[in-house]
Amino acid sequence: MYRSWRKSKSLKPDFNKKEVSICPATRFFDQLSFVGDEIVGCFILETDAGIVLIDCMNPDERCAHMIEKGFQDLELDINDLCAILISHGHGDHYGMAGYFKETYGTRIYMSETDYNFARNMPERFPWNPIDFTVDLFLQDGEDLRFGETVIHAVHTPGHTEGCFSFVIPVTDEGRVHHMALWGGSGILPDSNISDYYHSLVKFSAVCDRYHVDGEIATHPCLDMGIERLNLIRNLVDGIPNPFVLGREGYQYYEQIFYNMVKQAE
Ligand SMILES: [Zn+2]
Repeated sequence: MYRSWRKSKSLKPDFNKKEVSICPATRFFDQLSFVGDEIVGCFILETDAGIVLIDCMNPDERCAHMIEKGFQDLELDINDLCAILISHGHGDHYGMAGYFKETYGTRIYMSETDYNFARNMPERFPWNPIDFTVDLFLQDGEDLRFGETVIHAVHTPGHTEGCFSFVIPVTDEGRVHHMALWGGSGILPDSNISDYYHSLVKFSAVCDRYHVDGEIATHPCLDMGIERLNLIRNLVDGIPNPFVLGREGYQYYEQIFYNMVKQAE
């Protein structure tokens, strides 16, 4: 049950917002950082086999530059960028992946279904069809190994047909946590609500298995990501990381999406 004394706020990114504030590139786990603005961002995961980018914002130069600058600000070498993991075939997630592939030799991972969708992007969407090739099509239930780091990929159709969600291992002050990234947050007019619901149930079970105790979202306006990152930048040792929610806290977060299904039905 959510807080009844509080008027609930809607969790919807305002894609038409004119003035978007940029969040300073922020490391918020020992090996995980955020780069982006209040509407859309991406995650930089450092592994012993190179750096993995999870989603890469909008397909425009501003975003590509923001990512490059983010690496600099975090004192990371963008030449170590080994892979981009794309959650689904919408432009605000696949961004300029092709540019990174061409410039830095980065491998691109996404689902074949959404790749084909984005190759033939319907005109009603504001993005051009993608023009890059993919190095690995994601498989349901696959473990993506980057040295010692293993990202678990789960096919969660609904938001788009080929949408993927991920379980990402991180550490905070050395303690191990598992973050969930729910791949397609909103229910769109052409989303399949029944698929969306079944994917939620499926992903909840995976999160149980992995003892997921926190979440990250590429649209930080959905989960107060920016506010929590602001806090992190001033956090002192020993104070709990606001991205670590615990099992129960994570389940409350999941409930947002179950409620979204109820409202959409
Ligand atoms: Zn989307």
